[in-house]
Amino acid sequence: MRFPLVSVGGYVRLIGQLGSVQRTMCCYCGNENVASGDYWICFHCESVNRATLLSMKLNDQGLVSTLLEVNRYLLGNEYLNAINEYQKLVARYNEPEMLYNTGLIYMQYSNYQVSLIRYDRKGFMEENSLYREEASALASKAKLILNKASAMCQAKIKENGRNEFIDHTIFMINIKLGRLKSAIVALDSQENHNNEFLVNYEHMVLSAETKDYAATASYATKLLQKGMFSANAFYYIAWALFKTGRSKEALELLSALGKELQGGNVLALAQEIQKATTI
Ligand SMILES: [Zn+2]
Repeated sequence: MRFPLVSVGGYVRLIGQLGSVQRTMCCYCGNENVASGDYWICFHCESVNRATLLSMKLNDQGLVSTLLEVNRYLLGNEYLNAINEYQKLVARYNEPEMLYNTGLIYMQYSNYQVSLIRYDRKGFMEENSLYREEASALASKAKLILNKASAMCQAKIKENGRNEFIDHTIFMINIKLGRLKSAIVALDSQENHNNEFLVNYEHMVLSAETKDYAATASYATKLLQKGMFSANAFYYIAWALFKTGRSKEALELLSALGKELQGGNVLALAQEIQKATTI
């Protein structure tokens, strides 16, 4: 696959139009999203939100206030409080997407511990090894929970049968676990449902993981079409541009995106690019 023709200026204009699209909250992670169509993929946790279920869930004040509380804690790097709060939702709703999100919070907590490691001052080595140990324990915990989420998906399939949404959750769990072979198996199963949107989306994610950036950008551009739109495609295009040495265009895209959708991932990628280009 060849790297598609990318018009960053055109995409920036398209991103500008997102300002007029209705916003809603992801019912699994509580982050703000652009609501498009009958279902859409969360900008943050990449879970599928279904409009029919979403309105029902967002009427549940307990769910909404707990998600807001969790995100307040996460913003302040209070991970243990965030996890304790989120556990209430896991216990109450028994949904694999919520276990998956618990795994993501542990991953974020682990990354935070890594970010505390410092080499620029003397006498920090002992502290550094504590942060490193803590980060690795948290990463193991994240894996354990993601495995539980995967087992819950299988139990749900036994109970209610297989559909494109549960296959998407299984796909994302395997991506986060770094199990690409299992992710490919989940994508094969996804192909059976004839859901072009989810198939394209998963190919985009998988090719980013396998470092096939021309394919990442190709699948992403397909997801900018009417009726098959995902704002996440802009993020993946930026990722593919950055990885193929086009940092300036990637930053231009991310800066436009960051103005419309607040996402930690956009900021983190922009910082990574800035760091890579200033060294
Ligand atoms: Zn989400």
